Amino acid sequence: MKRDVVIVGSGQAGARVALDLRDAGFAGTITLVGAEPHLPYERPQLSKEMLADSARPPQFIAEAQEWHTREIELLLGHSLVDAEPDSRQLAIDDGRELTYGHLVLATGTAARHCAELSGLAVPVHVMRTIEDAEAIRQRLPQGGKIVIVGGGIIGLEVAAAAIGTCDVTVLEAGTGLLQRAVPSQMAAHLATLHGEKGVRFRYNARPISSSGHEIHLSDGSSETADLVVVGIGVEPQPGIAAMFGLPEDRPGLRVESSAMTERNGVLAIGDAAEQFSVCHDRWMRIETWANANDQAAAAVATLTGAPQPTPPTPWFWSDQYDINFQVTGDAIGDSTVLRGDPTSGRFSVIALRGDEIVGGASVGMPKDIAALRRIAGRGVILPRTQIEDLSFNLRKAIPT
Ligand code: NDP
Repeated sequence: MKRDVVIVGSGQAGARVALDLRDAGFAGTITLVGAEPHLPYERPQLSKEMLADSARPPQFIAEAQEWHTREIELLLGHSLVDAEPDSRQLAIDDGRELTYGHLVLATGTAARHCAELSGLAVPVHVMRTIEDAEAIRQRLPQGGKIVIVGGGIIGLEVAAAAIGTCDVTVLEAGTGLLQRAVPSQMAAHLATLHGEKGVRFRYNARPISSSGHEIHLSDGSSETADLVVVGIGVEPQPGIAAMFGLPEDRPGLRVESSAMTERNGVLAIGDAAEQFSVCHDRWMRIETWANANDQAAAAVATLTGAPQPTPPTPWFWSDQYDINFQVTGDAIGDSTVLRGDPTSGRFSVIALRGDEIVGGASVGMPKDIAALRRIAGRGVILPRTQIEDLSFNLRKAIPT
């Protein structure tokens, strides 16, 4: 039996494209294959609400009945093991072969592991799945020393959840936090906030070996730990590009704004995809919840022949303690302009490439971010004095 659309990957992107395709009136068969045994669930909650509330059950993207009502076939707990793209066939790990009309690869990324920690006698977790979040949250009430490897978004969200009960140290290989994602003013603000709560940061600190409770670091010192959480980024799922004869030396499966790969009948969306970001002026993976939804919408348009939505500006948020910060576009650019006073707890940092606004990051200024999402990467140039001026509403710069 030929299936009209097969989606591999049951994360945000895969689940969304299945549901939205049905909502768009698609009448063909839809099959969703996912390696995790659970119904598709929201991943942002793992390092936020699920750690903060020890009793909170995971939130699913849709309940079992909804998948049934929408006639979406779920093959959960199964992974893709082989493909023959010329005959539009793939094989999953129970030996089943599926023939597809169109295939959507929403296979996500895998959390990077830290081989230098293999000598540890204490639990070491990444934060990617419900099981990871449950294992970490069970351990938090016991207190003790948590070492978090990586001062990225996972490291900071886990630190914020753990500091109430544990002694928390973050090891960051670079000279500052979130160096690839947020401007230095925002990173400094987050470091101050976490520092005031008691989180200890060690920069230029990378594990080189480990034994028992000890992590030996690149600067010759060491840290002891009762629990280690690793958040050092993600990498493409191995083997997928090769199965489809696509280049393996790229950070993701390269797609146009239509979500089509270079392989006939094969689309790629979400973390697995590499796309051109106008704001960043380069090809890249955009590893955000919002991008998963946006590319799912692009895939639905391609599969149904509807007009493509305007490609949205990259955007993500994070909740830490009582603050919410948001980042859009390329928030680093080649220079930045500060709007507001970080010590007030409400400010934005606007990033420029040359004179053009290409992104920004903001705490407590949601109107700035709402405007920036419609300004960044659209050729808008404003005098720096105007950007700095809090009485100037950035909304006025949104191109018509
Ligand atoms: P990030 O890329 O955000 O951060 C990883 C950090 O670890 C970087 O600062 C990196 O430094 C550092 N690092 C790398 N290797 C080492 C090492 N050996 N020792 C110490 N530090 C190291 O990755 P995360 O793991 O935090 O997040 C993974 C994914 O989850 C991302 O795709 C993220 O977008 C997503 N996510 C998003 C959330 C949100 O939107 N709120 C929440 C949680 C996760 P350097 O840059 O120098 O390599």
